[in-house]
Amino acid sequence: MFGVAVDLSGTRKTMGLEEKLPSGVLLTTVELAAGYARKGSLWPASFGLACCAIEMMATGAGRYDLARFGMEVFRGSPRQADLMIVAGRVSQKMAPVLRQIYDQMAAPKWVLAMGACSSSGGMFNNYAIVQGVDHIVPVDIYLPGCPPRPEMLIDAILELHDKIQNTKLGVHREREIAALEKEALAATPLHLQKGLMR
Ligand code: SF4
Repeated sequence: MFGVAVDLSGTRKTMGLEEKLPSGVLLTTVELAAGYARKGSLWPASFGLACCAIEMMATGAGRYDLARFGMEVFRGSPRQADLMIVAGRVSQKMAPVLRQIYDQMAAPKWVLAMGACSSSGGMFNNYAIVQGVDHIVPVDIYLPGCPPRPEMLIDAILELHDKIQNTKLGVHREREIAALEKEALAATPLHLQKGLMR
């Protein structure tokens, strides 16, 4: 395992973290350091598809202040963005455009399906709307609601932060993907699941 030592002894005493470290030295792993940097500097691509986008805009504005989490910059260019918030229903016409934006985004990148429509098609069970954006791009986190309130979007983003913080690197990541794939293949298929709706 690799390790990183950060000497904080030369920093000002009033910054917070270093006050809790008596020796002024912080030890961590490369994975945790990379995860910490990545989660603290997520830049969303700047686009919205329908009514959910209004809530997304409110989340970025002064009252909810998404900037508190290092996300004040909604990027106009996908090449400078690493988070896609799919805010609204995805029409069949928009699907290839959305995929092109995703392909142009910088890696590593993450996708948040915001609201019932982007997660599953929502109330639009018809030929014009893609029945879940995961038909087009891989989704990291689904956020229910119609529309989800800004507090819910912030909660989903913080959940995503946790996921990013704990993402493994290199050969560890390959092993993690293999384990997740094995688990998914062993899961009960949807059509065999029994729930409240059946
Ligand atoms: S989930 Fe509701 S608010 Fe969001 S795009 Fe669909 S209809 Fe609009």
